[in-house]
Amino acid sequence: MGKVYLVGSGPGDPELLTLKAARILQSADVVLHDSLVSEEVLAMISPKAELINVGKRCGHKLLTQEEINSLLISLAASHEVVVRLKGGDPLIFGRAGEEIEALLNSGKEFEIIPGITAAVGAAAGARISLTDRRVASQVLFTTVQRGVGESDVDWGTLTGSTTLVIYMPQADYAHVASLLRKRGLPEHMPCVLVSNASRRNQRVHWTQISKLSDVERLPAPTLLIVGRVATRDLSLVASRPSLTDLLGLDSDRLTANDERLN
Ligand code: SAH
Repeated sequence: MGKVYLVGSGPGDPELLTLKAARILQSADVVLHDSLVSEEVLAMISPKAELINVGKRCGHKLLTQEEINSLLISLAASHEVVVRLKGGDPLIFGRAGEEIEALLNSGKEFEIIPGITAAVGAAAGARISLTDRRVASQVLFTTVQRGVGESDVDWGTLTGSTTLVIYMPQADYAHVASLLRKRGLPEHMPCVLVSNASRRNQRVHWTQISKLSDVERLPAPTLLIVGRVATRDLSLVASRPSLTDLLGLDSDRLTANDERLN
């Protein structure tokens, strides 16, 4: 009986694969991959492996999640090394939970190989520290819409020391900006959009909440980082005593203080 590997492919640069992921791709018999996996990573897969794209194409899912779960289990009956290859890390917005459950129920042997998630790849691309201790104390990995009915995600209470990393910000940056405002973040809060992090066509666009709606849509995949760390010149933010004093304060205080700085 074969073994199933849920493997993280990282943000795109094949040199960001773990050694273990690279080894398993070399010994794979069959690979089920998402559309997010870069061409360069696909090129690392053993030429003898069968490749199945189970991701989305032009917005349409090629296979349902249930079909992918069943396929993983049936392939493990006839192949030694079955790889489910996902963009970034399989456990972050990767639907791995459902696959883990199906594999546990099937009794098949499986293992999870982590990958570098887009948040970390994008932070490296933008050359910012998500938890810079001068201005940030926590990171929230989140998205805009989630689940059945696609209602907006509740980001809870944000403080001036929260860094938000927004996966799948979609094309409607104006909507994202309005959600950030509703959570009490000030107009001049820095934001950075990173498109195609770690890839040759990587683009980094610096902005702030007040200007987010006007930013042209960057090529997918794109990630949005919001917070005091999301600036090219942290020294400006960190050296203003009124801003550093805000760390840890609630969003009402933050908004009031920040308005004074405008
Ligand atoms: N499991 C993946 C995330 C899947 S959700 C991970 O851990 O990274 C898909 C979203 O991830 C995209 O819409 C985009 O917001 C983000 N993303 C993935 N790869 C990216 C990349 N190379 N550059 C920028 N964003 C990326």
